[in-house]
Order: sequence, then structure tokens, then C-alpha cells
Amino acid sequence: MFEEKSMREILDALHTDTEKGLTEEEAAKRLQEDGPNVLKEGKKKTAAESFLEQLNDPLICVLLVAALVSFLLKEVSDAAIIAVVIIVNATVGVIQEGKAQKALEALKKLTSPKAVVRRGGTIRELPASELVKGDVVILETGAQVAADLRLVRTWNLKIEESALTGESLPVNKDAAFQAAKALPVGDRKNEAFMSTLVTSGRGEGVVIGAGMETEIGKIASIISAVPKEFTPLQKKLADLGKILSIVSILLCAALFGIAVLQHRNIMEMLITAISLAVAAVPEGLPAIVTIVLALSVSKMVKVHTIVRKLPSVETLGAVNVVCSDKTGTLTQNKMTVIRYYVNQNIYKASETAPNMPEEFLEGMALCNDAVITNQEELGDPTELALLRFAEGNRFRKEALETRMPRVEEKAFDSQRKMMTTVHRSSQGFISYTKGAPEMLLDRCSKIMVNGKVQSLTEVHKRQIRQTVDVFSSQALRVLAVAVRRGEKEVCEDGLTFVGLAGMIDPIRPEAKTAVEQFKLASVRTIMITGDHIDTAFAIARELGIAKKIDECMTGEELEKISDVKLKEKLKKINVFARVSPEHKVRIVKALKETGNIAAMTGDGVNDAPSLRMADIGIAMGITGTDVAKNAADMILTDDNFATIEKAIEEGRSIYENIRKTVLFLLSSNFGEIITMFIAVILGMASPLKASHILWINLITDSLPALALGVDKNDKEALMKRPPRKAKEGLFSNGGTACTIFYGCLIAAISLTAFLKLPWEVLAEQQKAFTLENISMVFQSSELLTRAQTYAFTVLGISQLFHAQGMQDVHTSIFSRKRGFNPVMAAAFGVGFLLQAAVTEVPALTAMFGTAALSLEEWGALVILAAFPVLAHEIFVLLETLRSQDTKGKVINEVRQEHS
Ligand code: ATP
Repeated sequence: MFEEKSMREILDALHTDTEKGLTEEEAAKRLQEDGPNVLKEGKKKTAAESFLEQLNDPLICVLLVAALVSFLLKEVSDAAIIAVVIIVNATVGVIQEGKAQKALEALKKLTSPKAVVRRGGTIRELPASELVKGDVVILETGAQVAADLRLVRTWNLKIEESALTGESLPVNKDAAFQAAKALPVGDRKNEAFMSTLVTSGRGEGVVIGAGMETEIGKIASIISAVPKEFTPLQKKLADLGKILSIVSILLCAALFGIAVLQHRNIMEMLITAISLAVAAVPEGLPAIVTIVLALSVSKMVKVHTIVRKLPSVETLGAVNVVCSDKTGTLTQNKMTVIRYYVNQNIYKASETAPNMPEEFLEGMALCNDAVITNQEELGDPTELALLRFAEGNRFRKEALETRMPRVEEKAFDSQRKMMTTVHRSSQGFISYTKGAPEMLLDRCSKIMVNGKVQSLTEVHKRQIRQTVDVFSSQALRVLAVAVRRGEKEVCEDGLTFVGLAGMIDPIRPEAKTAVEQFKLASVRTIMITGDHIDTAFAIARELGIAKKIDECMTGEELEKISDVKLKEKLKKINVFARVSPEHKVRIVKALKETGNIAAMTGDGVNDAPSLRMADIGIAMGITGTDVAKNAADMILTDDNFATIEKAIEEGRSIYENIRKTVLFLLSSNFGEIITMFIAVILGMASPLKASHILWINLITDSLPALALGVDKNDKEALMKRPPRKAKEGLFSNGGTACTIFYGCLIAAISLTAFLKLPWEVLAEQQKAFTLENISMVFQSSELLTRAQTYAFTVLGISQLFHAQGMQDVHTSIFSRKRGFNPVMAAAFGVGFLLQAAVTEVPALTAMFGTAALSLEEWGALVILAAFPVLAHEIFVLLETLRSQDTKGKVINEVRQEHS
């Protein structure tokens, strides 16, 4: 056990060195020998297992019985068709599952953690999978521990180990701790474990276990057995599917009962009723939704968004408030010091102040965790800006650190808004503190002016505050630097004020466009920042988020008001400044309680609660800590605000596609049921054979449904609409009417096609068009086969046309501004050809019991089948006329008012 061993023993055993780490060559050799530092996945299902799983469905079992019955009745072709349907259905299911799985695996790779290591004496960031035993890993606040480590150094290090121990309170870690005996994981204070999260402090450790050898690796098999998570929509659809299954089965049982009473061929009607039940039940719906959601996850990656939780794709479309950080999200996070204030004067960054206090530049370089090497810049942009400024003035961090090594520190946190480091120098201990000026100023009692330390008077303070206001109103981020000489322990009181640095962080131009787009889409943007109110307002004004300063509120003001008052204020406030992470939780809670669907961005450890509280928690991919990423639903890989707009657009589009697919499938199935039901109730022959129903279910239904699932919507139009209401279901806004209308229309045209022949025959014979006479006509099996072929063709092809209208119920198919959907074109073409093949290819005609059709017959049937799209065009025309009428009325009213 490593916790009992001394540091020396461990380092000797692992042949490593804490100062330099492993060499690159040695690390590569160990990686080759031991393999990558990853947790192995549980055993994957084989294709055969997935296939059998697909067959494990009650409806498929019913269908298998139907196939057996057909076979026993020597209806070999029916049995064969049913068998083909079952096989194709299961194969499609396996392929869909495979695709969804692949999308999720690709996602896992994207979210895989990184690790900061010391190799060959230099600090590098590399994928956690490349860590090997003996590597020296550096832990920062917010990071996820990438392997099991024996800690070498710790500075107030606290780690949350709930992934391993279930204990959610962070535990203190101490490199100096040595166990007398082997200890349980939770008590090993000198070790850090893979997958746990650093909540505060810093540390360094040597890798003692990697991959499956880690503590989490030992229980990885338990973790990989986490049950699948279903989205609310999937759950709703599964429930809907259950209700529809029961209704369809009852209807089909009724159909069968009536058929028995009417003394029809019992076996034939049994198979038809079973087929109808199987065809009518939208058992494919949850599968289609899963594949659409899973595919959307890979689509989202293209717009720089990683979706960690599938349900958030749905929720995204309903978001109506986006609360965003400022730094790095709305701004570029490319900080540069452009002004500074020392010795009671303001200077440009390009100038060197006379009597420039060394402590100012030393503080910037030493009280700083960023690293600048020849190849790269690592660390927080604020700190990098200060480091660049100090180095530009010839104060190099490395050289300073050799002269004045860091002995103690208190890390930055967004609550205190400052950070302190203590250094040993030839003149004793010296500590540097840097942070938000208001926070620092209250802790200063002296000021350094031209090398002399004086008491800090109210006059000094007023002048400093005025300078902060001047800098802030120019949208600069301001940081103050202070020193203290004396003790080794960190003390953030009685400091000596040295100076201020003003940094520019330009806005992201694309964020400005995104804010405008959000306004059109009725999505509100709220800026929540830890920065000064004037800096925040200056940036908010530039971005179009706020116009007046009274739309801004500070964390201090927020603390003084009640939750009720906050909810009231939230109607007007668009900028929250100098807030701490707890305030974010209050804001998002108040937003949610007033009926909003809120997205919230965050990056720090303390942002995790608000990210969890928001309807959509969004973590930053570049600057975000692993803790924030773990708590978020989504990660922005480019930290860019404009990406949220793209993600919401995508979310709306995906929801729209799912809605279209569901309504299309249900109206089509409804059409099939009504066609059969009306015919049987009226005592007519069955318009469709069992094989016809299954064919429609398999081909002309499924292909366009899939195409609708991946449809390209007119994004511009989508983003001009207000967001969907949270409680809005799939059938709101005319969904039910649409399903019933098109179901009835499809039934009407199919029955018309079915009755076309008897109508013609009876007209020729000058007989009345009665049910009795129709039955008489159908006694001719040749006529019946032809009439069934008509109904089958119209029903099949009408679905292809219906799907065209369903792509966008509000616009004509001739004037759509959407992108071309090749899947839809292919679904239409292939569906049409396959439908034609069933009547025109002799082998298939025999199997399906259909008749070959003439060109003339085809023409008439296609016209009939096009009725759904014709109805769609008429609706669009009426809608356009109505909206023109309303527009005209409004113009007239305005004119009248003016005259
Ligand atoms: P946002 O929440 O929009 O990202 P922010 O980055 O300003 O804004 P915080 O990171 O909480 O929010 O910073 C709050 C304040 O703390 C800053 O305005 C700055 O004055 C100070 N500050 C930021 N980074 C550091 C740091 N590394 N060391 C010391 N003080 C800092």
C-alpha cells in the first residue's frame, strides 16, 4: 500500500523524480508497456445479441405467431412477407442502436479529461490517457484528478471524492501525512484518486496507479452498468405508444369480432387484424426519437457544443432566458494591460512610470499561477495579461521565483475576489496580494508612493476609487496589487497599496449579433459577472444587453433584497455585477420560479450549484474547470456566447423535427386504421391485405419518417418565433387537428380508390351504388385484387406526398427557404419505386397478391394520392390570405388614426 510508504521509497520504486518528472522517452516506453490510462468499457453487446433483443417485443411475438399461422394455412407468401418485415425491422433497429451508440462514444472521447504534468523539467498539458506510472501531475482548483496519485506537495488541497466514496463533502489532503497501517480509500489523506475533483487549493503528486489499476478502475464494472437515461419526451412517447397500442389492439379485436359476425374468412381476418395492430402501433416512435436525438448530439459538436445529457437537446428549444458570464463568453478573454496607476498617476502600458515600484511588477509576476514558455501560454487570461506586462518590463517570473520562492499562498476564489502568495526573500518574508480593488482597498492601511510607504488616507482612497471608475467606464477590468512584509503565514489585512492595472478585454463581435438574434427569437440575455458594475455596464451597452445603468444591479444590492423583490426586479435588470457564485443560484432560482426556462453559463468550481439548478447548465470548454463541466448539461468547446445561439437554434430545429415525425406517423397510422375499420364495419371486403399493411408500415411510412427526423428547417424562421412553452406538448398548436384531418383524408382517398372499380362497373351496368351491389362486384376475385391494389397504391404513395407537406406546415412546398434534404428526396424516390415494384414486378405481384397497373391507372392513382399535399397547399394559401387580411386591417387602422 502506497499510503504507508515513505516518499523516497515510492520515488525509488517508480524510478522518478519530483523536480523533473519522467523524461519523454521513459514516459513513451511506459505507455507502450502498460497501455493508456483509461477505464475499459464493460463488455459490448454482439450484433446477434442486439438483434435478438429487438425481437424481444410483444408485438413482434404476435407477428411471429401470424407468420406461423399463415405458414400452416399454406399462405407461404404472406408468411414470407411477415418474416421479411420482422427481419428488416430488427436490422434497422440494430443499425439505429449502433449509430446512437457511436455518437455517444464519440462524445465521450471529446469530454475526456486533460492533465498537467511535469516531464523532463517542463510543464505540459496532455490527454489524461497518456499518463503513466511515475508521472508528476500538477493539480489546480477545479481539475479532475486523472490517475491515482501519491501526493508530493499540497497547498490547502481539498478534493471531493463522491465518485469513489459517495461522500460529497470535500476532504483535506496532506502530502506530509503518513499512514502507520493500510487505510480505506476515504482515509488516505496523502493520495488523490482518479475521477475525483479538486475543489480548492493546489497540489502535486506522482502517479501510482493508472487505468484499470486505479481505485475507480477496480469498481469500473459497477459504474458501466448505469441504467440508460430516457428524456422526458421519450418517456411521454413511450406512454403515448402504450395508450395507442391498447387502443389499436382493441380496435383490431373489434374489427376481428365484427368480421367473425359477418362470417368472413376467419384466418384471413385474424392475420389482417394482427397486421393492422402491428402496423398501427407506433412502436418505432421512441426508436426514431432516440436516433434523432443521438444524431443531434453529433450535429451539435459541429456547432461547438457537447451535449452531456440527452434531455437537454429537448429543453434547449424552450429556453427563453440565457444568463451568461461576461469574461471570455461575451468578451474574447484576450486580456491586455493598457493602463496602470502607480504613485498617484495614470500611465499608458507603453510608458514606464518614473520611480516605477518594483513591488508592483513583482506582485504581478509572483502572485500569479500562469506560465509563459517559449512554446505556449498556460493559465488564466487575467494572470497571463499581468505576466506579459511584468515580463515586458523585464520582470521575469522564473528568475524572480528563484530569488524569492513561494512558501505559502491563498488561492483566488470568486468569493474573496483576491489571491495572496508569500515569498522568502533575502530581506525576510514578503507577501503579494492582487484582486478586485474594492475588496483590496478595505484591507489596506498604507500606500506606497514614489518608494515611500505612507498611511492610506481618505484622500488617497477617493483618488484610487475615482481611477477605478475611470478605468471601468472605459470597459477595463481593474486589478489592484498590494504587499505586506513580515510573517510567513498568509495575512490579507494591513496591506500596503501599490497600484492598479487596467486591462482591456474586447467584446466578441459575434456575441453582439447573437444578442440581437436572441431578441428576435424572444430570448432574453442577462449578463452575470464578477466584474465591476461600470466595466460590466460598458460592455453590456456595447453588446446591446442594457441601455441604462439602472438595468444593472450589484451583488451587494442583491443581498439586501428578498426573493420576492428579486423576482420583481428581474423583469428589468439585465446586468448583475460583482456577484459571487451563490448569487447566481438565487438568480436562476428566481427566474425558474417566475416561469422561465433558463440557461446559465459557468466555469468555476463554485458555479457548479447554479449550473445544476439551471434548466440548462452550460460549462466553458476552454476556461471551465472539470468540476463545472461535470455539473453542466452542455459544454461550449469554444467558450463563445454565439455558440449558445447556434445550440438553441439546433435545439429548436430538433424538437420541430421530432414533432413533425410523430404527427406524420400518427396521422398515417390513423389513416390505415380508419380505412380498414370503415370498410369492415360497412361489411365490404377488406381494402388491404395483411402484407399490404406491413409493407406500408415498413417502407412508405418509415422512410419519410426518418427523413423528417433529419430534416433541414428554415432556421431563420425558427429563430423569429418565440420559444416553445415548457408545458407545450407535441399535440399543441393544432397537432391533434392535423393528425385527425390527415388521417381522415388519407382514409377517404384510399377508400375512394378502393371503390373506383365498383363505381365504374355498377355505373356501366346501370345499377345503384349500394353496399350490397358493391359486395356483388367484389365477388369477382380479379376485380377485388385490382381494387385492393388501387387502395394499397394510393395509401402507400399518399404517405410520400403527405411527408412533403409535413416538412413545414406553414409554407408552400414551392417556396421554401430551407436547405435541400437529400434523405427526403431519396425516401420519396425509393418509396415510389418500391411501391411501383410491388405492382409491376411479376414475382412481387404474385407474393403481394396485386395486379399490374396501366399507365392511365397509375396517373389517376397518383393524382388521388397527392391530395394530402394539395390540402396542405390550400391551407397555406388560406393562412397567407388571412395574414394579409390582418396586415391590411392594421395598415388601414394606422392610416385612419393618422388622418
Ligand atoms: P465573469 O463571471 O463574467 O467571468 P469575472 O471573470 O470577472 O467575470 P471572477 O473570475 O469571479 O469573475 O472575478 C471577479 C473579480 O476578481 C475580477 O473582476 C477581478 O477583479 C478579480 N480577479 C479575477 N481573477 C483574479 C485573479 N486571478 N487573481 C486575483 N484577482 C482576480
